[in-house]
Order: sequence, then structure tokens, then C-alpha cells
Amino acid sequence: MDVFSPVKRSEIMRRVRSKDTKPERFVRRLVSGMGFRYRLHSENLPGHPDLVFGRLHKVIFVHGCFWHGHSCRAGALPASNREYWENKREKNLARDERARRELKRVGWKSLVVWECQVNKEATMKMIRRFLGGVNG
Ligand SMILES: [Zn+2]
Repeated sequence: MDVFSPVKRSEIMRRVRSKDTKPERFVRRLVSGMGFRYRLHSENLPGHPDLVFGRLHKVIFVHGCFWHGHSCRAGALPASNREYWENKREKNLARDERARRELKRVGWKSLVVWECQVNKEATMKMIRRFLGGVNG
């Protein structure tokens, strides 16, 4: 089933695994600095959102560009074994979409923040707007 040599695989996994580390911590610090309280990785909500703002009924996903198919350089598929990765990713995308739909259905608003954009001014504004409501 697995067609990669251990070296190749670990290289790819390293590229991919940053999801739980730096970008997410950056977003946590940001929203804490804005004075918002949140829970992490709720197991009870569809898609297990990264940050959960219970009182606001809002969640934030911090998406890794590779796994979640962002249209940036980090989201590009490797040239080899393309089909394998495409397949894997399609499943992720379907899961993401389903999660957001289900969240919406039960009255939760969700926002996706991309790993490559967490430290961009526009993203910070977007997060502030999202958490602060229409007038925030
Ligand atoms: Zn990206």
C-alpha cells in the first residue's frame, strides 16, 4: 500500500505536520491578546475545530496548506505519486466541507485560517471581524 521509502515519507510528513505547532500557536496568542477565551480541539463538534469560542458559538480552523489543499505554494502536490496524494487530499476536503456544513446546521459559525497566512495583517483583521461580529 505504502509506496514511499522511509526517507521520502518522513520528508513529506515533516512538511505536513506543522498544523499543530507554530501556525496554531500564533492564532492562539493572537486571539488571547484580543481578550477572547477559547477551548482547544473540541471533540464534540464536527471537524474537531482547533479553537472553540463557546459563548460566541464560533470556531476557528487553522488549516495546514498541504493537507487541506490551499492554492498556495505550500499546498502544491509533490510531482511524484501525485495520484496518491490527490486521493488523500480529496478525502480531507470532503471532510472539511462536511464539518463546516454540519457546524452551520447546528448554529456554529466557522472560519478557516490558512497556515501560510496566519501572520498577515489581513488575516488578523479577518479574525478580529469574525470574533467581534459585524460591527467589530
Ligand atoms: Zn497556503
